[in-house]
Amino acid sequence: MTADILIRNARPMGGDPVDLVIRNGRFYTDGGDRPAREIDATGHIVLPGLVEAHTHLDKTLIGMDWFDNRVGPTRNDRILADRRAKRELGIDARRQSARQILQTLRYGVLSIRSHVDVDTEIGLANIEGVLETREALRDLVDVQLVTFPQSGMLTRAGTLELMDAAMKAGADIVGGIDPATIERDPVRHLDAVFALADRHAKPVDIHLHEPGELGAFCLELIVERTRALSLQDRVMVSHAYCLDMLEPARQQVLIEALAAERIAVMTVGSPSAPALPLRLMRQAGLAVASGSDGIQGTWEPWGNGDMLERAKYLAQRNGMTNDADLAETARICTFGGAEAIGLARYGLSEGDFGDLVLVPARTLAEAVALTPQKRTVIRRGRIVVRDGVPADDLPHIA
Ligand SMILES: [Zn+2]
Repeated sequence: MTADILIRNARPMGGDPVDLVIRNGRFYTDGGDRPAREIDATGHIVLPGLVEAHTHLDKTLIGMDWFDNRVGPTRNDRILADRRAKRELGIDARRQSARQILQTLRYGVLSIRSHVDVDTEIGLANIEGVLETREALRDLVDVQLVTFPQSGMLTRAGTLELMDAAMKAGADIVGGIDPATIERDPVRHLDAVFALADRHAKPVDIHLHEPGELGAFCLELIVERTRALSLQDRVMVSHAYCLDMLEPARQQVLIEALAAERIAVMTVGSPSAPALPLRLMRQAGLAVASGSDGIQGTWEPWGNGDMLERAKYLAQRNGMTNDADLAETARICTFGGAEAIGLARYGLSEGDFGDLVLVPARTLAEAVALTPQKRTVIRRGRIVVRDGVPADDLPHIA
């Protein structure tokens, strides 16, 4: 239902209170009759829907038995455990992705970019499962799928062909992972990823955990390929820990190179990983997004997908405590994410999609620090969550 609705006395991104009107699923500033339905926001802040720019919908264990985690500490230990879990725990990508989406909807997450595993054991099963969920829940949330070769692409014959098939099946973005340390051939890995994206005229999103100068080298290869294929605004690097591990001069040169090709960077603000130089990145004009990464999975047992809580983690990880900095982390989890993953008609202005989340707080800093739970979420004019309670007509996932 997209009946018209008036939201009175709301503070857009913490600004002065205004009245907002949604007609036919879009924001309108004036004209027409006063809508029959209205909500009094009582001076609370309104955000245009939280943006989850990096997660793994196909692998969450939300609602399943607790995973007894005996996984070793290395990235390879985790990849092997992850593959074993898929076989032994019967993780149904369709059901699990729906569970995560419905859980994060109540926080106000209305746009999600999810990496989805493609490998020679599971083939396209996870892609097909998440595509099914996307279709079933399309009225509630926008989902972008990244073909993700977590188990290796060059090192596993047949994976690249499966990724090609996944793009034909409806995936939106070509993924890649650690071109040097997992693939051991960064030039060939990135050439293959960018060629596939070029062939399908689709964006690229690379998991890059590689440290220091090795990561910097891979970033330079990504910059070169983005420039050569004119993929500005269509490439994101996820994690990019190396940016925090370089000499200041080298760091600055790389950040400027990323900004020149309008390559976005996603950071989760993990307490156990390097903190990216957020201030320098924003000053250079880089689009910066954030995400939950895996939620309650075999990699890490925690997370709930609340992107306001994620904003708090970003602030904590970066030693930010003043209101302006906290507001900046809220922007990263809204407008920053939208810019980074290329959302159209995102915002609270005339003509934008009528999506919003009302948070019972007076300022963005208060919202980030206290992460109030009694939020109201509106999707294209439809109230899907009211004061923290999901609407009765939302789908129920068994
Ligand atoms: Zn990830």
